[in-house]
Amino acid sequence: MSTVFDSLAGNEAAVAALRAAAVAPVHAYLLVGPRDTGEQELVRAFAAAVLCSKGGCGTCSTCTRVARGVHPDVVEVARGGPFYSVDEAREIVRLAARKPMEGRHQIVVVSDLHLAERAAPALLKTVEEPAPGTVFVLLAEQVPPALQTVGSRCVVVPLRALPTRAVADLLVAQGVETERAAGLAAASAGRIGRARRLAADPHALQRRDAWRSLPERLDAFGATVAVCVDELVQLLDDATANLEERQRAELADMASRAAEAGHKSLPGRSQVEERQRREVRRWRTEELQAGLSALAGAYRDEMAVVRSRPAIASAGQAVSLIGQASAALVRNPNERLLLQALLIRLSRLDAGGAGARLAGLGAPR
Ligand SMILES: [Zn+2]
Repeated sequence: MSTVFDSLAGNEAAVAALRAAAVAPVHAYLLVGPRDTGEQELVRAFAAAVLCSKGGCGTCSTCTRVARGVHPDVVEVARGGPFYSVDEAREIVRLAARKPMEGRHQIVVVSDLHLAERAAPALLKTVEEPAPGTVFVLLAEQVPPALQTVGSRCVVVPLRALPTRAVADLLVAQGVETERAAGLAAASAGRIGRARRLAADPHALQRRDAWRSLPERLDAFGATVAVCVDELVQLLDDATANLEERQRAELADMASRAAEAGHKSLPGRSQVEERQRREVRRWRTEELQAGLSALAGAYRDEMAVVRSRPAIASAGQAVSLIGQASAALVRNPNERLLLQALLIRLSRLDAGGAGARLAGLGAPR
C-alpha cells in the first residue's frame, strides 16, 4: 500500500489520479496547471510509487532516494535557457531511450514543457512511444497550440492552486502565527510552495504592504513615480538577496567538495550558474507578479468602498492596467520600464479620480 502520497497537501484530484496510475503506469503523463502547488513532491511520490517494490512505502532506500532527488532512475530535466532548445530536446530523447538502471522503470520528468514549443517536433515521437520501461512525467503551466499534439499523446492530469484558506491552515499547522499565515497565503495566491518560501522570509508581508500603499501615495508628479519605482526595484533586490546568498553558499560548497575530490575547478560550474541565474529571474518575476496582484487587490478594495461612479470606474481601469502589465511581464521582463509605464498611467488615473474619489466617499450618486 503506497504511503508516499499521504503527506501531500492540495491537488487532491491529481494525487488520486497518479496514485491509481502508479500501479500500472502508461508511457506519459502531462500535469497541467500553476507551478509551486506542490507538484514536485507529487511527481516524486508518483516516481517512488512506480519504482518501489512495495508500491511507495516511503521508507525503503528507493523511496528515500527518490524523495531526495538522487535516484538514478528518476531523471529530472530542466531547460538551460529561457526556452528548451532543439539540442535539449534531443538530450531528452536520448535519456528516454536508456534502460532503467535498477528496476523495470525509469521516470523522465520534464518541467516547463510550455517553453518547449520550438523543440516540440523533436519530442513528439519519443513521448508517443518511449523505450519500454520509460514513463514520462511532463509539467506545463498551459498547453500552447504547438504542444497540443504532444499533449494529446499523454494522460492529462490537471493541477490546481489551493484555496487561500487551506494554504493558511497548512502554514498554521507548521507553526506560523494565524494572522501572518493569512497574509502569506493571500500573497502566495494559493501556491503552497511559494507560501512556504515566503514564510521563511521575515520581510515578505512588509513588501506586500508597500505595494498596497501605492494608490495612496501616487500623485500627478513625475518625481513621485520615480521615487516609487526606485523603492519597488529595491524591494525586488531585497527579495532576491536571501536566495542569492544561499546560492553563493551552494556554489562554494560544491567547489570545495570538487577540490577535495582532486578537481582543479568545479565540473559543470557554468550549468550550475545558469540554473542559479534562472532561479533568480524566476523569483524576481514571481515577486513582481505578487506585488502587482497585491496592488490590484488594493484598487479592488477601493472599488468596494467608494460610492461615486467615476471613482469606481477609475479603480476598475487601474485593475485592468495592472492586469495588462502583469501579462506583459512574461514577454518583456524589463522591470524598471514596466513599472515606470504602469505607475505613470496609474498616477494619471488617480489625478482624475482622486477628487471624485474623495467626493464619492460621502454621498452616493
Ligand atoms: Zn519504498
